Order: sequence, then structure tokens, then C-alpha cells
Amino acid sequence: MNYISTRGGVKGKKTSAYVIKQGLADDGGLYVPEQIPALSEVEMCALSKMNYIQKASYILGLFLTDYTEEELNSAAAAAYGSRKFPSLPVGLSQVNGDFILELWHGPTSAFKDMALQIMPHLLSLALKKTGEDKNALILVATSGDTGKAALEGYADADRVSIQVFYPIEGVSGIQKKQMACQRGKNVMVTAIKGNFDDAQSGVKEIFADRDTEALLSEKGLFLSSANSINWGRLAPQIVYYISAYCELMRLKRIKYGDLVNVTVPTGNFGNILACYIAKKMGVPIGKIICASNSNNVLTDFLNTGVYDKRRTFYTTISPSMDILISSNLERLLFMTAGAKRCSSYMKNLSEKGFFEVDNDVIEVIRADICGFYCGEENTKSTIASYFNKYNYLPDTHTAVALFCAGEYKKKSGDDSVMLIASTASPYKFAPAVLTSLGAAGQENDFEAIRKLNEISGIKIPTRLAALESKKPRFNTVIEKSDMKREVLRFASEQSKS
Ligand SMILES: *Cc1c(COP(=O)(O)O)cnc(C)c1O
Repeated sequence: MNYISTRGGVKGKKTSAYVIKQGLADDGGLYVPEQIPALSEVEMCALSKMNYIQKASYILGLFLTDYTEEELNSAAAAAYGSRKFPSLPVGLSQVNGDFILELWHGPTSAFKDMALQIMPHLLSLALKKTGEDKNALILVATSGDTGKAALEGYADADRVSIQVFYPIEGVSGIQKKQMACQRGKNVMVTAIKGNFDDAQSGVKEIFADRDTEALLSEKGLFLSSANSINWGRLAPQIVYYISAYCELMRLKRIKYGDLVNVTVPTGNFGNILACYIAKKMGVPIGKIICASNSNNVLTDFLNTGVYDKRRTFYTTISPSMDILISSNLERLLFMTAGAKRCSSYMKNLSEKGFFEVDNDVIEVIRADICGFYCGEENTKSTIASYFNKYNYLPDTHTAVALFCAGEYKKKSGDDSVMLIASTASPYKFAPAVLTSLGAAGQENDFEAIRKLNEISGIKIPTRLAALESKKPRFNTVIEKSDMKREVLRFASEQSKS
């Protein structure tokens, strides 16, 4: 299996190890597989008898053909074993006739663990397989979930170090503490005085800076990224949609061929694109519902064919979906419009702030994907009604998806089986969940977690419960203008060890 750029400007055939090491393509595009492998009914039946680790290594093997079976087996076992996921890697709950796919039973209680637990193993192997003599330094700017999940995934990974920058005022108290207490010899966490955009543009500048590249190279390091434009983060997400369909077959809730609709709470379009790829592999998925919060740029795009980022940015109680540029949409545009048109859409987006796709493109997209959104009040009332009516407590992101799934059913009359991706533990966003239940007082984050536990009786994830009494290890706060110096300082420290 070879990989090509969504903008068609990369010559030669690239292996999966190469693209995982590289991240972004040199022409500014994203890497995609040259063709989508097919999964037959026989394979799906065989998969439904396997455990998650076996399913992951089989499915990844269809895409990462330059990795050996042994390499993928051991990567999947290290990522999804009971040390990282004490319960099963994914949970499936039936609520009000729908199935909720819980993707947050990993070490940081958010769905990003599903990809970030295995990606470091894939990167370490990629360095070996491509004959790279330098080690990787991963730089991350985070507004919360990604930073902690990446730190936890990369901690003590072979030949890789990771440095995370977060805005001092821009992350929740729980998220700050989670990052400040990170273990590992190869990790660094730094707060910057500024907002998320400052952190992100600081990191982007460092990536583009040739002097820094040369200085790092002298220390035997090169920069790499862990965000969802990297194919190594996307591929592992395909697994759980296939796994969920197999699990519904195993439980005899469906038979092979029955269409299952899927609703995905969406920000950067990574998770939902993985579902789309599963469908293109032949998994009998019906409609894919793209659920957005008040930042409904994707809903408008799916309804009108116009993607326009020139709009108000809302800060919501589902912060991981507060995004106006959904990077992975580029992969969908490539798959439906081809490299030439995809490049021109992306050029318009960066130069004019919007693009409009051709009619044939939006028609093809609409055959598979439709968009709905959920505002703040509906997010809160969905949390309250799921808890009061069904005794199920969703987090704020999952609530957006639950509401949109309901809207889709009302509008379409489609009563196929519905699978809803649940992306975070309610405890990770405890203050907002408490407010939605009408039970918030003056609690700090940890008090909110305890109060939510008293009300719901749901077990607090062990690591979140243990966090309150932990001593922070990192407390550096710097000016945003000092980020480059901080990267070089950490790089010196890492090149010695
Ligand atoms: C990152 C995230 C999302 C959005 O996923 P994308 O792949 O960026 O669309 C949704 N919910 C939670 C809790 C997240 O952390």
C-alpha cells in the first residue's frame, strides 16, 4: 500500500512508515492511502470472533503493509492491553434503543487515547524502518485533551521526546493538573502567557524555522507532530468502527449487511473521517451524521456546499469541538473531488477564508454524510434528560452527538440501528455536566468530580481520582516569545540522555 498527497504534488511512492514519520506532505497536503482496502463478509465474521488487539493488528495490517504482522501485534498489545485499558478498550451501551460506543476508557479518559496509545509505537518503528538516524522531538500546542493524551502515549517511547505547550488561561483545572503531573524521562510541559492561538502559532513558527531545524539536527533530533493530520493517528481510529459493527453482529443485534447509522461529535473531522473510511472499506454503514456544536461550519458546509470560516468563534462547554478549520475535511475532499479540485478549494480557504465545492462533489458527500448541530442550551438539556430518563450520564461532547442523532431521526424518519460515538468521560468535564444537571455550586474541579459521583454513583476513573493529591512535576510558565529558546533547552537535555 502506497500513500499519496491530497494535493497531488508529492512524487514517488511513499510507504506508511515514511508518512507516519513525516506527518504533513511536502506540498502542504495530507497523506492518504492510494486505494481503500476492501473487507469481505467472511473477514467481518472472522473479526467478530477476535479480541480488540487482534482486530486492531489485522485492520492496521491492511493499511500499514510495510509493517510486519509481529510488529503490529506487539504495538496493538502494548497500546490496548489491560495496563492501559483496565476494562475493555471500547464500551458499548444500549440507551433508548441506540448504541453508545464509549471510546474513553483509556489513561486520560478521552477518546484521543485510542489513537495516541498506539501511534508512538508506530513512530518508533517507523524510525527504524526508514533508516532514520536522528530521534524525533514531538511538539504539541494544546487547548486540553490532545496534550495530555499525547504525553501519556509518548512517555518513555523509544527514540522520541515530547514537549507540550499550553495557554496558562486556556485549559481547565483538571487538564492543567493532568499535564503538570505527567511521568516519563522524555517529556516536558510548559505553560505560556497567552491564549491557544499564541501557543499554536508559536509551535508553527518553530516548525517553519530553518535555524532551529539546523540546531536540532546538530543535537541528533528532528521535529515531528502528533496531531490528527498524521496518518498514524487516523488509521487506528478506523478500527473501532469496524469493531463496533462486528460486536453488534456478535451480540446478534444485527446480521451482516444490516445498515447501521453512526453519529460522530466532530471538531477536526478526524474521528468521522475514520468512520467514512470504514464505510468505504465495505462495512455496512448507512448514514454518517456529523454532529457539531455552535461552531457549526461543517453543518453549513454539508447543507450548502460552501465552507466559510469567516464567522464568530464560540467558546462552548464542548471545547474539543470549538474549531473553525477542520483539517481532515481535506482528506474527504480529495476522496470525492480528486487532487486538483481539492488543492484549489484549500487555496481558496487560505487566501479568501472560504470555498465552494462543485455540485457533483457535495451530492456524492451527501449520499454518505449529513450535518446537524446542537447549541449550548440543547447540550445541557440533553445531559439532564439522558440522566433523568435513562440513568445514562454523557459528557458535553457526547451530548452534542446524542442530540444530533435525535434530530437526524426526526427529520429523516430513518429507524435503522444508530451507533453514537462517545468521546469523553463525564468526569473530564465535571463542572459543565454538574451545571447541566442544575446541581452546580461553588465547587472547584475536584469537588465537582466528587459531587457528580455522589449524584450519579458512576465510578470515578482511577487516574482522575488519584490526581488531586498528586504533586505537580512541571510548573514552568514562560513568555510566548521564549518558546523557541525553551525547545532548544529541552532538546539539549534530551540529546544528552
Ligand atoms: C478531539 C475531540 C473531539 C473531536 O474529534 P475530531 O477527530 O477532532 O473531530 C470530540 N470530543 C472530544 C472529547 C475530543 O477530545
